[in-house]
Amino acid sequence: MTQDTVPQGLGSGRSADRPAVEIEDVYKSFGRVDVLQGVSMAVREGEVACLIGPSGSGKSTLLRCVNHLEKIDAGRICVHGHLVGYHERNGRLHEMHDRDVAKQRRTIGMVFQRFNLFPHKTALENIIEAPMQVLGKSRDAALAEAREHLEKVGLSDKAGNYPSQLSGGQQQRVAIARALAMQPSLMLFDEPTSALDPELVGDVLAVMRALADSGMTMIVVTHEMGFARDVGDTVAFMDGGVIVEHGDARQVISDPQHERTQAFLAKVR
Ligand code: ADP
Ligand code: MG
Repeated sequence: MTQDTVPQGLGSGRSADRPAVEIEDVYKSFGRVDVLQGVSMAVREGEVACLIGPSGSGKSTLLRCVNHLEKIDAGRICVHGHLVGYHERNGRLHEMHDRDVAKQRRTIGMVFQRFNLFPHKTALENIIEAPMQVLGKSRDAALAEAREHLEKVGLSDKAGNYPSQLSGGQQQRVAIARALAMQPSLMLFDEPTSALDPELVGDVLAVMRALADSGMTMIVVTHEMGFARDVGDTVAFMDGGVIVEHGDARQVISDPQHERTQAFLAKVR
């Protein structure tokens, strides 16, 4: 098979007995800083996997490796059965062309701590941008879908507002709607409520909870232990570039087995 005939989309490799995300023995360094030191983790279809751990433990880097915003030094990551960012030929991994990486990334939604909406576009215009530019949807089709997504995040009445006319929580919900407009099969959240005033956190978490209930596969880096315990299926505790403890969400949060997890949870609770 030549590089051009390898299926690039992430939706075609689904199978009931394969996890949605497979992270196998991943290593990543920045210069001399070893950030990920052999991370393995699988996420089932429809699972909400929460990643917790102290600042600098590698959570964001791991998330960014899953959609190849960062290259990995060793190991492999598959989403829906497809290697992320690399082709395998004769047992060796070769990095994909940028355009193929971009194609893969379309099916993985990412929501950051900072919402990064276009300031000169309304909520609705922010949401239709990528479906029109990247998926080639007509303006009318993109608008109709965007309105549905705005409704899902509880912001039907804010379609014409510019980001500066929205609270941080509302902007984050627009950012979630914008990600959903690309019809992702996996959603990655990197501390989506960390930049928000406390009274705005609940609305964003409610949207994420509804998304989880709809069956979306999600990996969520969060400091919201209540959310991790109640909405998460699994929790992985990272420290120093490794997963120290990983298991049932309630069990890890309520009855952590590892000393480092216990110490971390004692501090954040
Ligand atoms: P977390 O999200 O758990 O706080 P990060 O994944 O952001 O942790 O960072 C883990 C470590 O990697 C930190 O020491 C951080 O300084 C370092 N790091 C992250 N990104 C870069 C980068 N682009 N260049 C150099 N060092 C980085
Ligand atoms: Mg981080």
